[in-house]
Amino acid sequence: MTDISALLSNIPGIHHGFGDKSALLPAVLQPFEATRPNKKQVHGVRIVDVVEPAQESGEADGFYTALPGILLTVFSADCLPIIFCKLDGKRIGVIHAGWRGLKNGIIEKMAERINYDGSTADWVASVGPSAQPCCYEVSQELVDDFLKELDLSPGLMIPSPRHLNLAAIAQAKIRQLGFASVDSAGSCTICSTVTDASGNESYKYTSFRRNSHQRVKDPSYPDIIGRNQQSGVIIIPN
Ligand SMILES: [Zn+2]
Repeated sequence: MTDISALLSNIPGIHHGFGDKSALLPAVLQPFEATRPNKKQVHGVRIVDVVEPAQESGEADGFYTALPGILLTVFSADCLPIIFCKLDGKRIGVIHAGWRGLKNGIIEKMAERINYDGSTADWVASVGPSAQPCCYEVSQELVDDFLKELDLSPGLMIPSPRHLNLAAIAQAKIRQLGFASVDSAGSCTICSTVTDASGNESYKYTSFRRNSHQRVKDPSYPDIIGRNQQSGVIIIPN
């Protein structure tokens, strides 16, 4: 069973979900796969207004629509998938945000799009599975950049030396931007495991960083399948 958000589960008229290795695209979203925008994710801050199924969207890391029947998804491995939804279920959005997207303001861009013809006060968000501070070690330069550029508490952003908390940064930004509520779903994409019925333990999520490390140790490591999980949301068509 893939991860869902308690908050988004209470919104009428939508389906949502966060993928993992058991279902790269959550089962509830699979019937709508063909309607997804065609896109190339580039760790940027561009949000696309989606107005037709299978829309050619170019380079984009965020999507927004008010139309039923169009599935919005993002691929992620260790970056954050974040799903946004208006409380009445009539408008939705999704973004892909790693450290670049967070630092460069993709959440602010989504808030700007929402506020263009609405208000973040009528919206909620859910931050999905990503690399968490148990595993997400980064360079001191990057830590210094975050401390310098973001107006958030150092202990929230960097709970232990050189370990960034991307999900906490995202949640804090979402609160600052006036959303009605935010929650989180899932766990660390690098270290979370699941145990099957016969007692075999395996990693729950695809992880870019874990796979890169394994590839260095053993180039033939069979766990590397090169496909990322997808997370998304759709306004259920009538
Ligand atoms: Zn971890």
